[in-house]
Amino acid sequence: MTSETVASAPGGVRDVVVVGSGPAGLTAAIYTARADLRPLVLEGEPSSTSDQPGGQLMLTTEVENFPGFVEGVMGPELMASFRGQAIRFGAEIETVKATRVDLSARPFGIWVGDPGAAEPTYRARALVVATGARSLMLGVPGEERLLGHGLSTCATCDGFFFRGKPIAVVGGGDSALEEAIFLAKFASSVLLVHRRKELRASKIMQDRAMANPKISFLWDTVVDEVLGDTTLSGLRVHDTVTGESSDLAVEGCFVAIGHVPNTALFAGQLPTDESGYLVTRGGTTTDVPGVFACGDVQDHVYRQAITAAGSGCMAAIDVERFLEADRHSPA
Ligand code: NAP
Repeated sequence: MTSETVASAPGGVRDVVVVGSGPAGLTAAIYTARADLRPLVLEGEPSSTSDQPGGQLMLTTEVENFPGFVEGVMGPELMASFRGQAIRFGAEIETVKATRVDLSARPFGIWVGDPGAAEPTYRARALVVATGARSLMLGVPGEERLLGHGLSTCATCDGFFFRGKPIAVVGGGDSALEEAIFLAKFASSVLLVHRRKELRASKIMQDRAMANPKISFLWDTVVDEVLGDTTLSGLRVHDTVTGESSDLAVEGCFVAIGHVPNTALFAGQLPTDESGYLVTRGGTTTDVPGVFACGDVQDHVYRQAITAAGSGCMAAIDVERFLEADRHSPA
């Protein structure tokens, strides 16, 4: 296949389309834009979950471990900077969700809007998959009904509503402790409900949470039901050691039990591992030549903003080399 740099109108063939706009996607956009590949970023649509524009950092407060920010930086502010930097170098960003992709032949087809449309909205010689991951849910009765009515996955978004109220946070990792510490600023008390006796979170977060007088811990406890008709009024839990069931009188609950990768768009077209993450080999290469995956959608080990950004950079370099080789290959 031959290639040339072409116009960017919808329906035209792009050099590269980036799906996702967290640290991975926007870093891939910055690098491919600087390589003059005029990337199009499909950043997603606003929602309350982490597959919204900007990704999971839009749902966090202060990021203290992104190198270069001595005093830390707010997650949304950091993502606004990534975005601005990508635009500065010529990346185009559309606030839309990709609804279907066809990776069976190049140029790849990418649909926005009606996935049943005969023709794709965009075609691309290379695709960067940076769709990230989203919050895991408990899967218990009442959860779906009360999400947004006292039940939340985002302390930054909803913490304010729980001023002076007793709340619970479910989980034992860094996210749960980060949420608990943040929420302690608003809530009258924060009960951290964890299914084991040991926390998974890092030592520094454990120390901070345990030193906070508003935070207490309920160990070996699993949530069986989220209670409440139209507003959350409590949690039904059981002790995994004694088997005893009880109701916790809380007015809010934040679920922070980890994440699942956003791979549904690529089902049957890109292989996933046993945990559902996209499989990459030797960097960001997938099993489909010309498709590169980066960030949390393919990383269940590190899952940091900085590693996601690093892999976005790798994806961009992989795209550049792929397109260059493609230009020199026989038609
Ligand atoms: P995580 O480390 O996977 O922890 C998930 C927690 O939820 C675990 O304690 C787990 O229990 C519990 N859990 C999972 N499924 C559950 C279920 N169905 N019911 C009840 N509890 C359940 O996830 P994370 O806290 O979101 O962190 C993800 C990654 O991001 C980590 O690498 C973390 O270090 C990083 N992170 C870093 C920061 C920071 O540095 N400031 C902040 C947030 C996240 P078990 O322990 O029993 O498995």
